[in-house]
Amino acid sequence: MHAPAEPNPRPLPHVMNTYGRLPIALAYGRGCWLWDTQGRKYLDGLGGIAVNTLGHDHPKLVPALQDQIAKLIHCSNYYEVPLQEQLAAKLCEISGLEAAFFCNSGLEANEAALKIARKFGHDKGIARPEVIVYEQAFHGRSIATLSATGNPKVQAGFGPLVEGFVRVPLNDLAAIEHEARTNPNVVAVFLEVIQGEGGINQSRNDYLQGLRAICDRQDWLLMLDEVQCGIGRTGQWFAHQWAGIKPDVMPLAKGLGSGVPIGALVVGARAKDVFGPGNHGTTFGGNPLAMRAGVETLRIMEEDGLVAHAAQVGQLLRSELEAGLAGLPVEFRGAGLMIGIALPRPCGVLLGRAAEAGLMISVTADRVVRLLPPLILSADEARRIAAILCPLVRSFLAES
Ligand SMILES: *Cc1c(COP(=O)(O)O)cnc(C)c1O
Repeated sequence: MHAPAEPNPRPLPHVMNTYGRLPIALAYGRGCWLWDTQGRKYLDGLGGIAVNTLGHDHPKLVPALQDQIAKLIHCSNYYEVPLQEQLAAKLCEISGLEAAFFCNSGLEANEAALKIARKFGHDKGIARPEVIVYEQAFHGRSIATLSATGNPKVQAGFGPLVEGFVRVPLNDLAAIEHEARTNPNVVAVFLEVIQGEGGINQSRNDYLQGLRAICDRQDWLLMLDEVQCGIGRTGQWFAHQWAGIKPDVMPLAKGLGSGVPIGALVVGARAKDVFGPGNHGTTFGGNPLAMRAGVETLRIMEEDGLVAHAAQVGQLLRSELEAGLAGLPVEFRGAGLMIGIALPRPCGVLLGRAAEAGLMISVTADRVVRLLPPLILSADEARRIAAILCPLVRSFLAES
C-alpha cells in the first residue's frame, strides 16, 4: 500500500468528456476498501463495476501478476500461448463448454458472439441472419453491440444501427415462439441472464429452460452474455447454472481478470468449429499477462471458496438491506453479490451522497441502486454497506 500525496488531478481537461464522473480520484486500495488522493476512505460496494473480483491489492494475486510481468506481458498470437490453454481448460471445466477465444473486453466478447451467430447462419444457407435481442439489454458501446443494446440513450446519435436484430421483451416465451413461426432468418437468441445496466432484471429459470428447448428445436444458438453476472458473482460460476442449462456461446469479461482487462468467448459443441483460421482475431487478446490474471483469479476463487461465499455473504447483505429498508416502496432484485434496489423515482443523486458517506455504489437505469462489491466481501463489510446505504435511501425517499 502506498499513500501518494498527489494533488487531486481533476478536472481532466485533456480527457474526453464521456463519463459523468464524481470529483473523486482514487489512489489505492486494499481488500474492499479504497482511499482517494485526499486520504478519504471508502467501502467498495461497486468493485469497479463487477470487475475487482478479488478486491484490491490481493495478497495472492499481486505477486502472481508481478511474476508474470517480469516474465512476459505480450508476445502476439503468432505463437502458442500456453496460458491461453490453461485458462480455456479451466473455463471449460467450470462451464461444461468446450473451447474459448480470448479478447480484451465485454463488447469484444459480444462482437465475437455476434460474428459466430452470423457465420453459423451463413454456413447453413441463411443469407441474412438475424439475432433475437432484448428490451433493456446492454451489450456494449461498439456499433454492433450498441445496436444489440435495448436502450435508446445508448443508441441516440449513432445511427444507422447495424441491422439483423429482432427485439423481444424479457421472460416472454410467446414472443420467441412467434419469431420461430414467422422469421426463418433467426439464427440465435442473445441475452444477459441478469440484465445489469438495464436495472438488474432477472430472466426466470423456466424462461431460460424454455429458450434452451426452443433453440435446440430450431437449431438456433443460445448466447448468454455473462459479462457482468458471470464469474461467481451470483453464487454459481455462471448465472445460467441456477437454471440447470448450458448456453452454446457465452461472452465473459468484467470479473475474469480481477481488474486486468480481459474478455473471453466460451463455446459449446455447436459453435466451436464455426470460426476457422483468419475468421477472427485481436492483437492484445489472450496476452500472457491477462491470461495469468484469469488463471490466478479462478484459482484463488476456488482455493478460497469464493463462489459459495458470494452466495452466503450476498444473502446476508440482502437481508440486512431488506431489514434496513423495511416499509419503504423499494423492490429488491438480483442474486448473490449482484443486488439491485429499485426505487420509485430517479435516484442518481445517491451516488454522490453514498461516496460522501464513504461508500461506493452505482445507480443504473435511473432509479436502481446497484451493488457489485468484490467477492471477498466479509460479513462485517456487508453489514457496514447496509448501515451506510439504508439511512441514505430512507432520507432520500422522505424528500418530496
Ligand atoms: C459491461 C458489459 C458489457 C460491455 O463490456 P465492456 O468491457 O465495457 O465492453 C457487455 N455486456 C454486459 C452484460 C455488460 O455488463
